[in-house]
Amino acid sequence: MSSTQETVLEIHLSHLTHNFNYLKSKVAPHVKMLAVVKASGYGSDATVIAKHLETLGADYFAVAYVSEGILLREAGIITPVLVLHPQPINFKKLINHQLEPSLYSPRTLREFIKVADALNQQEYPVHIKFNTGLNRIGFWENDIDYIFEQLENTKAIKIKALLSHLAASEDHEERTFTLDQIHTFQKIASEISNRLGYQPILHQSNTSGILNYPEAHFDMVRTGIGLYGYGNEAKFDTQLKPVASLKSVISQIHTLEPGESVGYNRAYKAPGYVKTATIPIGHADGIGRFFGNKKGFVTINNKIAYIIGNVCMDMIMVDITDIDCNEGDEVVIFDHTSNAAKIAEHSGTISYELLTAISPRVKRVVVDNS
Ligand SMILES: *Cc1c(COP(=O)(O)O)cnc(C)c1O
Repeated sequence: MSSTQETVLEIHLSHLTHNFNYLKSKVAPHVKMLAVVKASGYGSDATVIAKHLETLGADYFAVAYVSEGILLREAGIITPVLVLHPQPINFKKLINHQLEPSLYSPRTLREFIKVADALNQQEYPVHIKFNTGLNRIGFWENDIDYIFEQLENTKAIKIKALLSHLAASEDHEERTFTLDQIHTFQKIASEISNRLGYQPILHQSNTSGILNYPEAHFDMVRTGIGLYGYGNEAKFDTQLKPVASLKSVISQIHTLEPGESVGYNRAYKAPGYVKTATIPIGHADGIGRFFGNKKGFVTINNKIAYIIGNVCMDMIMVDITDIDCNEGDEVVIFDHTSNAAKIAEHSGTISYELLTAISPRVKRVVVDNS
């Protein structure tokens, strides 16, 4: 019997160390490293990842929402934490936990000043986010006057950083567009720095920006460090190693006669004698129904076994007709050899969706600490 006896997500901290040091080697020594650990560290475990990176010398963390930042503080993280997309209703909690907001619109700026004033804050550090082409959240260049009007009337906040986000830094065909985003950010940053009389921390680059656009490194880079090596990054940099592996086990094996079916709605019908394995992971664990009917696969004893029939809430069934295996054998959903990007691509999604969907009932296990 293998060491894996139930569905687990293994976290390889030695790979995280490798990736962090590798990416740090790609930026100049003065450039700060911000680790994005939103969405439970891209589906892994935000506090495990952040604690390890804090010991490695990460300069900053970022999460999407205030609740995620509070979890980091409660776990004892003392490094600055940026909240990328806070909602005004949580500004008071954000300040009480010493989190730093990304303010991205006239409304969020106004509301934040109001809350910071009410809590008697002095020069509370904020990041101002500019839209340079992603068209998701961010101030526009022509909001700069408005920002300064608001700043004139308060001492409660201080612009600590300016940021923007690249839309297509992994796509070489969008090079002109990306360079234009970088140029626009530079222009905005120099106007604001001139008017402030000091230079805030500038940050624009995500992981693929680190690798593809040195001109976008500025003072700090942001990297979704939770899952290197099997995300989209894997397409252009194989030196990054996967931080997590999703594994399970064969619960039961059946042999079907021709015409017998598998699972709900009898979605799969055996064309001949077919051997199947049932695995204890389903759509409630993050294996979406779109992985069913041969769109997704697992690996058993280094061979690919396609998911047959519909994905159940707690189980999947796979075709093992040509695989020599037994009940209790290990099943790999993804790891360093069978990576999440490949499975995601085969089933029409991206690895980030596969990873962040892994539900809390899947046990997270740290398998190496170095
Ligand atoms: C998620 C996110 C990142 C990290 O992106 P990766 O491509 O995973 O490195 C950086 N910045 C912002 C604003 C984000 O939302």
